[in-house]
This record gives sequence, C-alpha cells and structure tokens, in this order.
Amino acid sequence: MLNFLKKDPILAIEDYDFTAFKQVLNTPAENIISDIKTADLKGRGGAGFPAGVKWELARKEKSAEKYVVCNADEGEPGTFKDRYLLENSPWQVLEGILISAYVIGAEKGYIYIRGEYVKPIKIFNKIIEKAEKKGLLGENILGSEFDFELELIRGAGAYICGDETSLLNSIEGQRPRSRIKPPYPIQSGLYGKPTLVNNVETLAAAVEIINQGVETYTALGTAESNGTKLISLSGEVNEPGVYEIEFGSLTIREIVEQLGKGIRNNGQLKFVVPGGVSTSILPQEKLDIPYSYEDIKAAGSNTGSGAMIVVSEENDLIDLMLNVAEFFMSETCGTCFPCREGIRQVCYLLENAKERGYLTQRDFELITDLSQTTYLAARCGLGQSSLNFVTSVLEHYRDELLQGGGQ
Ligand code: NAD
Repeated sequence: MLNFLKKDPILAIEDYDFTAFKQVLNTPAENIISDIKTADLKGRGGAGFPAGVKWELARKEKSAEKYVVCNADEGEPGTFKDRYLLENSPWQVLEGILISAYVIGAEKGYIYIRGEYVKPIKIFNKIIEKAEKKGLLGENILGSEFDFELELIRGAGAYICGDETSLLNSIEGQRPRSRIKPPYPIQSGLYGKPTLVNNVETLAAAVEIINQGVETYTALGTAESNGTKLISLSGEVNEPGVYEIEFGSLTIREIVEQLGKGIRNNGQLKFVVPGGVSTSILPQEKLDIPYSYEDIKAAGSNTGSGAMIVVSEENDLIDLMLNVAEFFMSETCGTCFPCREGIRQVCYLLENAKERGYLTQRDFELITDLSQTTYLAARCGLGQSSLNFVTSVLEHYRDELLQGGGQ
C-alpha cells in the first residue's frame, strides 16, 4: 500500500480528517509507542535510528517542559523528498507532529524549513493558521486536555542546520554549530530541555503506520526494512523525481531502469550514490541488490536520506569528487579543525588533479589519510561523512584515476 504519492495537494482543512491523531487521543501513549516500535520505523532523515525508541526515551524524560521539532531543513544534495511531502501532504506532516507531541508530552513545537523552500514555507504558514482557527493547534485540541503550539522557523541556507544539534542552536538564535552528543536532544535539547527531533518523512510515515495498522505496514518490505521509502532520484536518468517504493521490491539497478527510465542520451550507467553525497557509492557490480537498509549496508554503503544520484560514463570523476568536496568545504561550520582543514586540503589536491587530468599515487595517499582523520576526529556527522563519496570513488576507480591507468 503505497500512499504518499497518491495524495493531491490539500489545503482545505475540511478535506483532511486527522483519523490517526483522533485515534491517538483515545489511546494510551504507551500503545502508540509500542506500535511505532513494532513497526520498526527507522528515522528517514538518514541515520535510521528507530523512531519508536526515540519517542519512548523522550516520553520517559521527566521534565515539565519538552519540545518536538520537525526537521525540514532538507539540505543533502540530491534530496528533495521532504519538499514533496511538505507541498503535497502538509496535513499529514502536521498530523505526525501533533501525534509525536502528544505521545511524548510536549506543548510546544517547531517546524524548521529550509530557507530555499519558498513554496513549502508558504503552504505551512497557511496550514498553521488554518489549524489554529480550527482548534487543531492551541489549547484543548479537539476538546481534549492536550495543548500544543507550533511555530515555523525559516532556515537561512546553511546545510549544517540539517544536523539536529546545529538546528537547535539556530532556533535558539545562536551560531549554528553542532553540539557534542551525548547528551542527545531527547535528554538535553532546545533550551536544555528534552527535545524530540524527527525528519518530515518519519513523521508522515508514523501517521501511515497508525492508519494502516502495524500488521499491514510490517507486511510490506524486508526482514529489517519495513514499509516504504521515498526516493529522490536524480543525476543521469531520463526521469528524475520522487518515487515511493516498498523496501525490497526493486533492486538499485531496477530503480534506475524502471523508475528513472534508464540513462540519458543512451549513456552507460557507471555507479549510484544510494543515500546522498554523504554516503559511499555503489559500483556496477553491487547494483543488483534489493533496495533495503540491510542490503545496502552489506554492500558497503547506506540508505541515508534516500537521495539516489545516478552517475554515467559521461561524467568526469575528478570533477564530481571536487564538486562534492567543495560543497562540504563551503558548508562546514568551521568549528573543528579536522573538518575545516581536512576537507580544504582534499579540495586543494583535487583541484591540482583536475588541472593535471589525473591523480598521483601521492594524491591517493594524502586524500586517504585526510579522509580517515576527518572521519575519526570531526565533531559531527557533517565532517564524519563529508569524504565518504570521494574515498569510495577512489577505492573503486583507482586504476582509472591514476596516471597511466595505474600501470
Ligand atoms: P545520529 O546517528 O547521531 O543520530 C540519529 C538520531 O538518533 C538523532 O536524532 C539522535 O539524537 C538519535 N540518537 C542516536 N543515538 C541515540 C541514543 N543513544 N539515545 C537517544 N537518541 C539517539 O545521526 P545524525 O548525525 O543525527 O544524522 C546523520 C545522518 O543525517 C547521516 O546518515 C545523513 O544521511 C543524514 N543527513 C541527512 C540530510 C538531509 O537533508 N536529510 C542532510 C545531511 C545529513
């Protein structure tokens, strides 16, 4: 049962019935958490942490003040599935926020939307206004004891704010640099209070689980990947776009061929980045695996946010690596030395290689060394994953990149 993509833009609140939320208001919060845990909903922002566990831990925190935050600062290059949901299923996203707030006992929440997402911001401002008028936000929501206020925060174009702790600093009006974890936001988040941060798709999927029922939801997918996933398919395919697939129903190659309708200009597929540029690439020989958390992990990469970028033989590998490294160089918050300097040095080496037209053995050694240090010593996910793309391209295309084809 693939649901997300069947929906039309809904702006009339009268057309949306909040069935899942109404059910939640009449169900003990523990039962809802148990359902989300049984469904094994993995965080769809990229890390895949079990959402039900996070909700449970947040609920158990003893604090009179708690927050929920919907992370809609979708910044990973190649990722645009949350934008799709914000534009096409905004009520469902709001419903997910309401459910998570009710379940953990939060009375205040934020939706932090990427600044460039002008249309979703307009839509969500209207959604909040209408929900307030209809008694879905505010005091005694739908006649219950539940009070909840939601505020929209517009991001200002910094990729680092997609990192949950930088995002929290940004909401507080501080410089958006990451905080050291632990403590995790559910322990000490916004203003030091327990804060549940969930991605847009995770919240929308929680609504699906409640509406469909756990059994129906878990009947979809594979052993370790239940339900469905939105994929942002881009790069050298004929039909880029957002697609929803049941986990395990298609291989990576089938996604490229059947959904993306093959490579543009009759080109040859070279490799696929399965989860955005912070994940490692999957070369030709690893593309016949089912799309699932476990299969992609076993193949040496990560589903990440589901941003599948397709690369063809036409693409220049040094250009691609430089492009990705430059992105991270401009987006590092600059707080920690390994991330700030490590990525800059890799860019410098790749710029020289680009001029030369090939990499030397010494470039390989230096980039590998810098990548390892950055991975081990950077303080947050941005730095740790910034060179996964570059190092995986080096690993798989070594001979092609070295002078004289590595001979
Ligand atoms: P993480 O593993 O540190 O945390 C994931 C989530 O689980 C967080 O909410 C964290 O607070 C929570 N968590 C983890 N361990 C916990 C524990 N023991 N107790 C309580 N809560 C716990 O990962 P991260 O740094 O938040 O995210 C990294 C991912 O973000 C990458 O895998 C990347 O794919 C993704 N990403 C996505 C985008 C995007 O635009 N969607 C952009 C950049 C990166």
